[in-house]
Amino acid sequence: MRVEVVTIGTELLLGQIVDTNAAWLATKLAESGFDCYFRSTVGDNHRRIVQVIREALARNDAVVITGGLGPTQDDISRQAIAEVMNVELVRDEDILEKIKTMFASRQREMPESNALQADVPRGATPILQKLGTAPGLICPVGNRVIYALPGVPHEMKEMFERAVIPDLHKRSGESQVIVSRNLATWGLSESALADILHAHIEELDARRECNPSVPTLAYQASGKDGIKIRIASKGLKRSDDPILALEAEENFLKELIGDHIFSTDGNSMEQVVANLIEGKRMTLATAESLTGGLLSSRLINVQGASNWFRGGIVTYQSEVKFEQLGVERGPVISAKTAFEMARGVREKFKSDIGIGITGVAGPDEQEGNPAGTVWISVVIGDDQAKADSQDVENDRIAVLVHLAGGRNQIREMAAMSALDMLRRWLISI
Ligand code: ATP
Ligand code: MG
Repeated sequence: MRVEVVTIGTELLLGQIVDTNAAWLATKLAESGFDCYFRSTVGDNHRRIVQVIREALARNDAVVITGGLGPTQDDISRQAIAEVMNVELVRDEDILEKIKTMFASRQREMPESNALQADVPRGATPILQKLGTAPGLICPVGNRVIYALPGVPHEMKEMFERAVIPDLHKRSGESQVIVSRNLATWGLSESALADILHAHIEELDARRECNPSVPTLAYQASGKDGIKIRIASKGLKRSDDPILALEAEENFLKELIGDHIFSTDGNSMEQVVANLIEGKRMTLATAESLTGGLLSSRLINVQGASNWFRGGIVTYQSEVKFEQLGVERGPVISAKTAFEMARGVREKFKSDIGIGITGVAGPDEQEGNPAGTVWISVVIGDDQAKADSQDVENDRIAVLVHLAGGRNQIREMAAMSALDMLRRWLISI
């Protein structure tokens, strides 16, 4: 089944509202195994709406329209659909009664204009309204179909799930599904990932020629949340093929990419770290410089953080690092400083783990280091706290990362790198 989404509204064309309906519908259709090759948006103009619906019907099995079902003058989807169907609008007394009852329940008289929402193109089936006043419509046109839904997102979503998806499945006979999973990674660039996966993706493409359940892979860079690899596999709803293919592919990628994958179940990096810390019954404290609290803020995003997060300190000026955390005077963009910050805050906050982060957010360089130079140290337990802070070569003291981008991007990436380093430590002990 091919389905096209048509969103209606002049505000959409002018960019005054963002077309979240189209994005949401595209996701839902893909998840349910329906193909979308085109998407259209049109303003509140009768002639052009009719034209777009005709074009969409000509190249698809079904068209899903949102918007323009309201009671006002610019809501003209009903009339346009009636013209495409070549039928007249008929007032549906049941719907009219429902709209009146809804107004009565809010102690209000129904404005005359709302009666228009009870008009249904002859031959169409209304999708009864649960959340708003406008009913949706299922409008058969030959062996094709137009679905009309309200523009208001929560009303649209409710009707789509309740009435449109089941109707599409009924029409498509044996229904197809797409199952998918996102692997979230950190530490490899998009091009490094592409190098690792290039040959494998070509092989998958070749195998898919004979077996449609062979998965597709796609990357999606999501900034401070890492790069996601989406595995998707298509197949018949009642067969196990797609889910088995998905699992085999996930295991293969885990071998290939290893511990750069931090989550496969949609959990954020901070949630993954939180689960690890809680599992080990440890506590944590943070000492931040360039990230200015971003790291502690992300940790506190996790519900229940008070079980394991003791607190954090932002020591921005060098003097404050020396005074508050016992960092030895000297250059502060260094492994030694990161380590001494981590050790200092661990002691000050009486936690099992201390994490220290120091570096250059830019745009100017500092102590001869370019923007993006960041040192991160994780100190776990008393033994490590006794390490020699002069031992710059030892990556158990601190790790150096080089980050690219503007000031805020560097700060966000630095916080994420610190979380990732913490995660790696926690899985290694
Ligand atoms: P109403 O009864 O409220 O008039 P309607 O079905 O006529 O509903 P529209 O008038 O087109 O729908 O849109 C109502 C509101 O829904 C818009 O002001 C906007 O906030 C939201 N909306 C409409 N279309 C979209 C869209 N494609 N994406 C996101 N929001 C939308
Ligand atoms: Mg409207």
